[in-house]
Amino acid sequence: MAEETSWTEDRLELLRAYWDEGLSISQIGERLGVTRNAVAGKAHRLNLRKRQSPIARKPKEVAEPAKPKELPLRLALRGIEWSRSKCVWPTGDPKTVEFSFCGKSIVPGKPYCGKHCELAYTTSRDGS
Ligand SMILES: [Zn+2]
Repeated sequence: MAEETSWTEDRLELLRAYWDEGLSISQIGERLGVTRNAVAGKAHRLNLRKRQSPIARKPKEVAEPAKPKELPLRLALRGIEWSRSKCVWPTGDPKTVEFSFCGKSIVPGKPYCGKHCELAYTTSRDGS
């Protein structure tokens, strides 16, 4: 029982040649009259370089730290200055020029001052 494919020097040469040509493992197997497994196994033992995945190991993209919420675009377009250390609770009507932000110092990690944090994160009936 010859489970092992008999790899003569000639066939090994062919294997290498086909491999370099970029034939697929099954194509090579077909030409050499052996199974895919035999080709793959032999290629592995011969240390033939993998061609299947050109982008072998893509460096993981460096995850950017999550950005704090940006201003709504509409506000940004109005050219309203905004500091990340100031409460961005909108006051007034966004459609009018009186519209602005609270501007007090924020609670660390939050976009609003203490008072507006309470307003923002509690769902009470009425803020006032
Ligand atoms: Zn505020």
